[in-house]
Amino acid sequence: MFFWKKKKAEPKKPLGLYVHIPFCVKKCSYCDFLSAPADDATKKRYVDALCKEIQGYKELTKEYGLATVYFGGGTPSVLEVSLIGQLLETIQKNFTLDMQRAEITMEVNPGTVTPDKLAQYRSMGINRLSIGVQSAKEKELALLGRIHSFADARNTVQWAREAGFDNISLDVISALPGQSFSDYQENLEAILALEPEHISSYSLIIEEKTPFYDWYAEGKEKEADLPDEETDRAMYVYTKERLAEAGYERYEISNYAKPGFESRHNSSYWTGQEYLGVGLGASSLFTNARYHNETDLLTYVEETEAGKDVRREIERLVEAERMEEFMILGLRRMCGISRMEFQNRFGRPLETVYGSALKKLKVQGLITVEGDRVALTETGIDVSNQVFVEFVPEEFVRR
Ligand code: SF4
Repeated sequence: MFFWKKKKAEPKKPLGLYVHIPFCVKKCSYCDFLSAPADDATKKRYVDALCKEIQGYKELTKEYGLATVYFGGGTPSVLEVSLIGQLLETIQKNFTLDMQRAEITMEVNPGTVTPDKLAQYRSMGINRLSIGVQSAKEKELALLGRIHSFADARNTVQWAREAGFDNISLDVISALPGQSFSDYQENLEAILALEPEHISSYSLIIEEKTPFYDWYAEGKEKEADLPDEETDRAMYVYTKERLAEAGYERYEISNYAKPGFESRHNSSYWTGQEYLGVGLGASSLFTNARYHNETDLLTYVEETEAGKDVRREIERLVEAERMEEFMILGLRRMCGISRMEFQNRFGRPLETVYGSALKKLKVQGLITVEGDRVALTETGIDVSNQVFVEFVPEEFVRR
């Protein structure tokens, strides 16, 4: 007698899905993200187009399963709940998504949600929230152009807990205009009092084409002075020390988490896992290529509706670039990179490619090489851009 042995299905490769929602109630004074206010009809039309773009990737489901989904923006929470439901349903229909195991994050801004909205997000399967709090001081929030008060942020966290969210991240920005060291200390304490599982802490960067740029970079009349370098540095050091004391592990340059609550989606970027970005201006990385979507809203919507490809730039990554990404993104993580993983991925030992750079950086005290792992030292983190340049392929470095 002859028995067929059932062939075991190949496990699917993990993929992160980023969904860009480019709408906000109003533009913040420091923001250069691809986002703007829009009316309800525009939002609905955009979501319909986005669903069509997602459907176009259905073929990927043969090879990939979604490990994480991230609704970012913009402010995803400005959408009607039914539109988020439409997006989640489309994702589930077109991809393999285990709702029990996947991390499904949504960025939320205080002032755009109600207890009912949050409860509906939770019942749809969203299991992680990233809330843009930024500051606990009304004066700072007003200067940043945020639409909410700190009381709104506190309410949002409380409603989220009541809705059953047990994985909440809060964003805080330091080195704000007019901010003293003790102002920042008070902000951080107020954030800690909300007991989030995860905190992302960034120092303000003045980006071009923002009102802040006009006020500060061009030396025009300004509302308040920016903290000096020494104060900025003191805030940075304080964040590390205070959050460590409060039980948060720093796992990436700007990210801190209680054990087991690291962002799986963002970690996939830093570990070089493949991801698909859908929506206006979204980027993707898979099959050794990087893609960037159209950035004009009307063009994106019209072309998606017409069934056209909205990917504008497709960069085939050569091996040297993939190695560079592996090193630069991996070194952002406090645990650094694994030499064995490098060898498995690129078929040769790390030292044969970056031997002299590693030696130089080690002598300078900017990296540690311990067993399998290479990581930045505290000094290395401070001058990370200087370290990262050592891993850029020769032809891209302007000497
Ligand atoms: S809410 Fe976020 S994305 Fe929107 S304008 Fe403000 S900083 Fe930018």
